[in-house]
Amino acid sequence: MAGEVPVPEIAGAPRTMLGHWPTPLEPLERLSAALGGAEVWVKRDDCSGLAFGGNKVRKLEYLLAEARSAGCRGVVTVGGLQSNHARQTAAAAARLGLACDLVLVRLVPGRPPSDERTGNALLDRLLGARAHVVDGAGAAAARVAELLERAAAEGRPAAFIPPGGSTTTGALGYVRAGLEVAAQAEAAGLAFDRVVLAASTAGTLAGLVLGLARAGVRWPVAGVAVADEPETTRTAARQLVEETAARLGTDPSEAAPFEILGGYRGQAYGVATPGMREAVETCARLEGLLLDPVYTGKAMAALFDLVRRGELGRGRRALFWHTGGAPALFAYGDAFR
Ligand SMILES: *Cc1c(COP(=O)(O)O)cnc(C)c1O
Repeated sequence: MAGEVPVPEIAGAPRTMLGHWPTPLEPLERLSAALGGAEVWVKRDDCSGLAFGGNKVRKLEYLLAEARSAGCRGVVTVGGLQSNHARQTAAAAARLGLACDLVLVRLVPGRPPSDERTGNALLDRLLGARAHVVDGAGAAAARVAELLERAAAEGRPAAFIPPGGSTTTGALGYVRAGLEVAAQAEAAGLAFDRVVLAASTAGTLAGLVLGLARAGVRWPVAGVAVADEPETTRTAARQLVEETAARLGTDPSEAAPFEILGGYRGQAYGVATPGMREAVETCARLEGLLLDPVYTGKAMAALFDLVRRGELGRGRRALFWHTGGAPALFAYGDAFR
């Protein structure tokens, strides 16, 4: 495919091309100047090309290839009402002619009823997915089981894609991303002192630290916990790094070093914070760059803080990994001035 950074097959896993690769690697000059510290660059996985893009496209290239080679005719997945993962899964399923059932959980406190009709939830319906809105994890699990059983009974088996697509198979998409960004950085003569990204189910971070290592790069990666307490995210990340390393036949200790940062999520997953507002508005106004209210806005708030605390000062270079999510902005209009 034109312009694609050549990346060898990974772990013998099948892959279905769904996105636009490589995603751009760009400097944020006006933002860097305004913050007065490290030179900040952005990896534009928000431009991954499928139905407004985002990080799940890379995971779905492996997850859906696996589902198809197992003979599945549909997929079932779970997320919040404004789940970017659900929207990208719906788009990928449409593209591949697979049925798509989304179990959407009302999991963010204080959200307006419009959450069910706008932003990602609107796109889910346009993309032809069947949305099943439920309250609570127990109801979600029961509905998933029912949908999988029904699909099997009707002779069109469906694959279950876990939340965020964070299995070892999904993480392979970010192993590939690590190889891709290392090749881009090498071609541009760049190295980074820190990579900052939002972390939730941690498949993005786990794949990335292993992909960087495969490319011989050891840039430290900071995952910003935006969904759970940092300890929970750290445990999930460590476990997925181990499992994915085993699948790659490498030692997890060879992965690029990573840490999980707490203190930026605020009250809960999906609830606006002042730092998120500042980051979203600043990037929009200085760079024409749209972040999102749930993930990248909070991760960028962490990057601002690292610069202000002198951890990413002048003479250093930071890479912000944009994982997408901007369609949720339309559901969060009331969170902004
Ligand atoms: C899902 C998502 C993340 C988190 O990715 P994980 O692999 O679950 O850690 C980050 N940003 C956006 C916009 C997402 O949709």
